[in-house]
Amino acid sequence: MDKNTVLELVSRILPASQINTAADELYDASADRYKKYAKARKVLDVPLPVAIVYPRTAGETARLLAMCNEHGINVIPRAGKTATEGGLENWKELTLVVDARDLNRILKIDDYNMQATVQAGVTLQSLEDELNKRGLTTGHSPQSKPVAKLGGLVATRSIGQFSTLYGGIEDMVVGLECVFPDGHVARIKNVPRRAGGPDIRHIAIGNEGALCYITEVTVKIFRRFPENNTFFGYLIKDVASGIRVLREVMVNGYRPSVARVYSEEDARQHFYHFHQGKCVLLFMAEGNQGIVQATCAGIEEAVEKFKDGILEQVDSHLIAAWFAHLNWSQKDIDDEFQGMIANDAHAGFTTEVSADWETIPTLYDNVIRRVRAEFPRAHDLTMLGGHSSHSYINGTNMYFVYNYAIHCAPEDEMRVYHHPIQRIIVEETLKLGGSMCHHHGIGKYRNEWTKDEHGSAYYMLEKLKQAFDPNGIMNFGTIFYQEEGARFQK
Ligand SMILES: Cc1cc2nc3c(=O)[nH]c(=O)nc-3n(C[C@H](O)[C@H](O)[C@H](O)COP(=O)(O)OP(=O)(O)OC[C@H]3O[C@@H](n4cnc5c(N)ncnc54)[C@H](O)[C@@H]3O)c2cc1C
Repeated sequence: MDKNTVLELVSRILPASQINTAADELYDASADRYKKYAKARKVLDVPLPVAIVYPRTAGETARLLAMCNEHGINVIPRAGKTATEGGLENWKELTLVVDARDLNRILKIDDYNMQATVQAGVTLQSLEDELNKRGLTTGHSPQSKPVAKLGGLVATRSIGQFSTLYGGIEDMVVGLECVFPDGHVARIKNVPRRAGGPDIRHIAIGNEGALCYITEVTVKIFRRFPENNTFFGYLIKDVASGIRVLREVMVNGYRPSVARVYSEEDARQHFYHFHQGKCVLLFMAEGNQGIVQATCAGIEEAVEKFKDGILEQVDSHLIAAWFAHLNWSQKDIDDEFQGMIANDAHAGFTTEVSADWETIPTLYDNVIRRVRAEFPRAHDLTMLGGHSSHSYINGTNMYFVYNYAIHCAPEDEMRVYHHPIQRIIVEETLKLGGSMCHHHGIGKYRNEWTKDEHGSAYYMLEKLKQAFDPNGIMNFGTIFYQEEGARFQK
């Protein structure tokens, strides 16, 4: 099979207006933000996909997938293109990128049953804008909200900035429609709860395009009370002191929408106007008035209990102002791309993990110590730190952030800089019993640890792949390690 034959087969399913073979767009489609520096410097070493295709219905998607399944053509599902872990990177010569651009309709906003149904290519921002007009919200607010689309947000198990109140996307999805490689279209109905066997929503949620293509999603919606939003900020002694306060708030049953602790280095890049070289603890309470009042009291009580670790309270307006400018537009993403070319520096690489309350402070310290001691290019680091931004009754996440100046050939950047740091973070996390991946997905660059992440339960994950994608056409190399892809990882 060659590329022309693939195009011929596609053209039997879709009109020319839904098939894109423009060279610059194929280059763009061959990798995501993971290799963004190499991509910006035009030195990507991965194959170009044959085409980007834009199905308009679940039926067209089913015919495309079935055709690819029959002929062994790799499929990369794509939505908002904000992937950070290589989920959109192409490792196969014969690949179709199946893009949700034309699955772009908000199908229903049901404000009595409090759920909204959209196609996979709807940006979260456009759904949120429609809901806000009616005094409603999804409660989902990843920083990529202006650009990311519902299909991708569900496929990656994304989480938003208000997760401590609303949960991750897995707590929001009530039903969905997805298409499997054999062309089967599955519709999981929208109900408040079910006990009809295992919860099959979770086969699609977080599948990263490696099992099925999500075409439609129904999410919960909530009443919105922005006038009650209340912010708190504190300078604190160290990360561990902040984690103690977060835990106290959570185990007492309070649900602030935002609950975060920043290390000194991370605070410096976010709160340069007030951090004074210290760690920062912050909260936001939202909801109807009674709930906000109780939540504020709970936060103040926890801060008082652990006041030994609190240095100073910060003007809450500073926290509110900071929060108002956190989200990234497409322009911000494009500017970052240009900035990397201009400065030969990588700002804002992240690896996000999770662990229980007891483990997180140790994990944080171990990682920072090991990176400083073992990373051969530690002298090129311009920032190394992290923050906890999503808390639960039994623990929290740690979002390691590292910036560095690049002093090597652009094509060697990942090998020389990113991979050694990521390896330390993942190794330490797995050693201490945490999860190596809190919300960005495994993509193609943490797949060498997928088996270690799941241990004896990997059996279940592997069987899902074998059952739903026996010919291995769905997003080759994503989640599941592939020897053939190792050359792109090194
Ligand atoms: C500036 C910035 C801020 C971010 N902030 C957050 C954050 O706060 N929280 C968070 O969780 N993430 C965040 N991310 C990561 C990213 O936005 C999320 O992973 C998001 O869920 C990806 O959605 P997308 O529509 O862009 O998907 P894409 O990037 O297009 O795809 C992501 C993955 O999902 C698969 N996929 C896409 N569409 C489908 C589909 N229809 N069916 C099946 N599989 C599909 C792809 O193959 C790929 O593996 C951020 C990224 C950026 C660039």
